[in-house]
Amino acid sequence: MKEGIHPEYKPCKITCACGNVIETRSTKDEIRVEICSKCHPFFTGRQKLVDTGGRVDRFKKRFGMK
Ligand SMILES: [Zn+2]
Repeated sequence: MKEGIHPEYKPCKITCACGNVIETRSTKDEIRVEICSKCHPFFTGRQKLVDTGGRVDRFKKRFGMK
């Protein structure tokens, strides 16, 4: 492996505004983010929406509602 091509990766703490801390490796010591996989609507909301939608659908079918 040639030297100088890859940046130096060191332990890095990603701190989210929600308080969640993710430990990873990066060229930076510390990263601050406003949103993470734990509080992002895409990860927290979508699953619930899909689940709720399925329940409503089954409920409507059971009682013959259109
Ligand atoms: Zn977060």
